[in-house]
Amino acid sequence: MGRKKDFKAAKSFTLGLQELAWLAKYSADKKLKASEVMNKLLRTAMQNDVKEEKKAIQRGPIAFCTKCMQRTEFENVKDNWLCFECGEDKTEVIEYHLERARP
Ligand SMILES: [Zn+2]
Repeated sequence: MGRKKDFKAAKSFTLGLQELAWLAKYSADKKLKASEVMNKLLRTAMQNDVKEEKKAIQRGPIAFCTKCMQRTEFENVKDNWLCFECGEDKTEVIEYHLERARP
């Protein structure tokens, strides 16, 4: 059994002219391959995307709590939406807003 060959992936896609010009200049200035620059940029975008997703999962919807008299975050506890601050059940209100927010 010989040495495993490196897995290579090549994909073709189109970039805008301005973006391409920037990429050429930027990678030349930084003495990096264009693919390294692209991978770095994509990696950053991926990490931001994951962060946003996690934030969306951790944070519940924000709505006005009549008990707290201010906008607060609501958390889902056993299919009920409770005010994160005082525990007031606002399931009907939150469900209504979530329903309306759907495309
Ligand atoms: Zn409250």
